[in-house]
Amino acid sequence: MNETFDVAIVGAGPAGISAAITLANAGIKTVVVERGEYPGAKNMSGGVLYGHDLGQILPDFTKIPGFPIERNIIESRIWYLSKEAGISVGYRDSIFAGERKQNVFTVGRAKFDRWYADQARKKGALIVPATVVLDLIRENGRVTGVQTGRADGDIHAKVVLIADGVNSRLAVTAGFRPDVKPEHVALAVKEVIELAPEIIDQRFGVSDGNGVTTEILGAVAGGMDGVGVLYTNKASISLALGANLADFSKTKLKPYDLIETFKKHPMVAPLIAGGKSLEYTAHWLPEGGYDTMPKLYGDGYLIAGDSAMLFNAPHREGSNLAMLSGKMAADTIIEAMKTGDFSAKSLSAYNTKLSESKILQDMKKYRGFGGFLYDHKEIFETMPEIVQFGGRELLTVNAESKKTKQDKIIKKLRKDMGIPRFVRLMWSGFRAVK
Ligand SMILES: Cc1cc2nc3c(=O)[nH]c(=O)nc-3n(C[C@H](O)[C@H](O)[C@H](O)COP(=O)(O)OP(=O)(O)OC[C@H]3O[C@@H](n4cnc5c(N)ncnc54)[C@H](O)[C@@H]3O)c2cc1C
Repeated sequence: MNETFDVAIVGAGPAGISAAITLANAGIKTVVVERGEYPGAKNMSGGVLYGHDLGQILPDFTKIPGFPIERNIIESRIWYLSKEAGISVGYRDSIFAGERKQNVFTVGRAKFDRWYADQARKKGALIVPATVVLDLIRENGRVTGVQTGRADGDIHAKVVLIADGVNSRLAVTAGFRPDVKPEHVALAVKEVIELAPEIIDQRFGVSDGNGVTTEILGAVAGGMDGVGVLYTNKASISLALGANLADFSKTKLKPYDLIETFKKHPMVAPLIAGGKSLEYTAHWLPEGGYDTMPKLYGDGYLIAGDSAMLFNAPHREGSNLAMLSGKMAADTIIEAMKTGDFSAKSLSAYNTKLSESKILQDMKKYRGFGGFLYDHKEIFETMPEIVQFGGRELLTVNAESKKTKQDKIIKKLRKDMGIPRFVRLMWSGFRAVK
């Protein structure tokens, strides 16, 4: 290729493509290099996207032909599960089927990423799939391009956007980011289970293309710091389960075994009964939070999305932070193009944009959340069993008075956990999200 561009972007995920669309809109000569056979081929997520944030990049996205929505989400559920039982809390609101339609919706990443990259291509960005970026080209300490795996594959650019995802070998090799520590990432596995749309409608009580998301906490990952999700698509259900990588290496539990057990849980099994497994994928996701974020700019480069460790775990927001950070990186480059200054000082405007936005404000707010879950394994082991005991006691009508039942539950809490430890857990939880 050996060509010169204004901007070279590594990675055609939500971060890279959002930047490419924004740059192409401004007439900036942009190339996106993607190692997958096509954008999305190597990508995986639970599948929830956010209309407001996508709208910042493609204002009329719903009207673009082929927009690959699966279901419009009208209800969000949270489950707290023991091994055999569970509590369910949900919020359903018709506003999300009306004036706030597409506030949250599901997509399949393979389809969505491909469609999204097509929008960048239509606006003039060059997308180069099936090509791995091997290294950054640096001259006098400044990033001036990327070296790809193709013959004559050097691409020179005024600025490089590193959007290569959570593992980000490029940023790590260049010394722009420390290597990922196992306790700062989760390993997630996902299975897509095919079901007829009318069966999904019936099981989740929805119609007209609407759907439900379920976030699942508790004893779903063999006592490890882990969560599950169950999302409705048009004609399938996405079931994913992730746990801290350090916990996986300590326990030697196998993700495949965990998801098989998860599928048999009495709250999960009826929802997927009769379904056919369509695909099974695994991926990391960044969980370290604000304190594990690297410096996001330097001479000739910027870092966006998962590569920058942007993930809001309590709200399972990652793809939208990737999109917005990609857009802000592009806006910074557009400003720098006016002066021709691509130094770290000039590109530091990116950090200002992130700080003034919800991205860094939310990352800071939840900076203690990952550590809180990792340090309090009782959330995943002891507490679910206490909750199950309490649920069974309270809902079993027998000769015992309610006061006797209440005393039994408190006794169980004292014995299994202790009141001071329970109070400490609640207080730490409050501090982690306050
Ligand atoms: C199980 C799971 C569930 C999730 N659920 C949700 C959810 O429901 N909602 C949500 O908002 N977020 C979710 N996320 C997070 C979300 O997927 C990420 O935050 C988002 O994909 C980050 O986008 P990105 O563009 O930064 O990185 P990615 O999507 O990882 O894209 C990076 C791209 O770079 C390419 N690449 C990497 N290295 C190279 C190289 N050397 N050369 C060329 N190309 C390269 C990759 O192939 C990839 O296409 C989930 C993640 C997981 C794992």
